[in-house]
Amino acid sequence: MANSQLSSIIIVGAGPSGLLLALLLADLSPRPDITILDAAPTLNEAPRATHYGSPAIQLFRKAGILEEIRRDGYMPEKICWRKLNGERICGYDRSLLHDGGLEGDGLTVYWVGRLCALLEREVKKRTGVSVKWDHKVTSLQSGLDPHDTSGSLEVEGPGGKTTTYTADYIVGCDGGNSTVRRLMHGQRNFPGFSWDVPIVATNTMIDLDRFGWEDTQFVIDPVHWFMAARIGAHEDPKQNIWRISYGEKAGLSNEELMERQEMKFEQMLPGHPKPGEYRVLNKSPYRVHQRCVERMRVGRVLLAADAAHLCNPFGGLGLTGGIVDVGALMQCFEGMQKGVADNGILDKYCEVQRRMWHDIINPVSTANIRRLHLQDPDRVLEEDETMQLVKKAETDLELSRELQSAGDMLVYDYTQHYRRAAGGGPAVLAKL
Ligand SMILES: Cc1cc2nc3c(=O)[nH]c(=O)nc-3n(C[C@H](O)[C@H](O)[C@H](O)COP(=O)(O)OP(=O)(O)OC[C@H]3O[C@@H](n4cnc5c(N)ncnc54)[C@H](O)[C@@H]3O)c2cc1C
Repeated sequence: MANSQLSSIIIVGAGPSGLLLALLLADLSPRPDITILDAAPTLNEAPRATHYGSPAIQLFRKAGILEEIRRDGYMPEKICWRKLNGERICGYDRSLLHDGGLEGDGLTVYWVGRLCALLEREVKKRTGVSVKWDHKVTSLQSGLDPHDTSGSLEVEGPGGKTTTYTADYIVGCDGGNSTVRRLMHGQRNFPGFSWDVPIVATNTMIDLDRFGWEDTQFVIDPVHWFMAARIGAHEDPKQNIWRISYGEKAGLSNEELMERQEMKFEQMLPGHPKPGEYRVLNKSPYRVHQRCVERMRVGRVLLAADAAHLCNPFGGLGLTGGIVDVGALMQCFEGMQKGVADNGILDKYCEVQRRMWHDIINPVSTANIRRLHLQDPDRVLEEDETMQLVKKAETDLELSRELQSAGDMLVYDYTQHYRRAAGGGPAVLAKL
């Protein structure tokens, strides 16, 4: 078997997936040198991920950051679907599952901006890991040929200075507009589709508790469809912060989307609030997509998280799915580092993670957004099987547990492909 041990890894992108990967790889023994390159001057503060499912929680625990996340974040208990008039259709009560606390893997809310700041702080404590902001990857000089023994990137640093970086492996964690993906697969080769309806995501200080609203609600309506999720809990309900993400009409410019926010809030939120009755802390328009690359590995170059696959954010499967890639890569590299797997395990990574996206993330997230705007709210309990199950689970705790732990299906144990000790079973690549 060729020696698959790693002495260096470049991670492109210091978003949550790249930083978490660096933190986990810093614990490998022997530890490879890890360089993170990011085009931006600093961390991204846009209102994006807030909710993390159990596969992400398990990895946060492994990375040693769960305690801080649970201390500063919170665990939502009640999640429901409503009609625009506020009528509750069905929902879950997560408190019945007792999956909280440091031992539990329960759904946790923590702003992605805070997560990145926490990860960067932890990464900086490790030796052998460097984070280089203002370093934009522009081209790939080697690494795609199956015979290459390393990968090289051309990088534009501060002041436009160009430098070449080389490592055993390059991992593109550079987000939905990934340069690494384009260099691997060509400019437009990202199979899937984009929704024609844009969404607007806001973080808003508003009192929705006075309407009896729960931690998270998905409001089903052909025009004013939205999600309102408490993302910051405060003793004074007027100071609670909510992620309010809503769908908009196709064909509007970003400026038009931003201008319409006050009108949308007044029409869709309970109590029809005027601007003085809430405070928008930040807001951003997004185009949403369902896309997945055909290969997450070519030679010495790999893709993970948004760089490899995208889904709409309703249901919180985007970064949770990306974090699952990170955990998978970690296990593959760990096997290589321990000498119990060769680099063929990275092809398994590509096969399994793509299958997860196609079989679970894509269909579930697609159903989530379709339900919000294409389903008749008056007929949803008759026509939508998932809503029927959620309704049934209101009085069937076992079913509730089963439905709410469905995210665990995203976790795959790559150690089953490690080569066993002599006499202990088949060689790793026989299974791949
Ligand atoms: C409104 C909204 C709500 C969401 N809510 C959730 C949620 O609740 N739960 C969930 O799981 N997911 C959610 N998501 C999805 C989640 O935010 C993303 O999946 C996640 O942020 C992607 O992380 P990433 O590390 O893959 O990429 P990014 O966070 O996009 O980071 C990519 C990094 O790469 C850098 N980069 C880009 N190009 C280059 C280059 N050429 N050279 C060097 N660096 C480069 C960028 O500067 C950036 O720092 C949501 C998304 C949206 C839009």
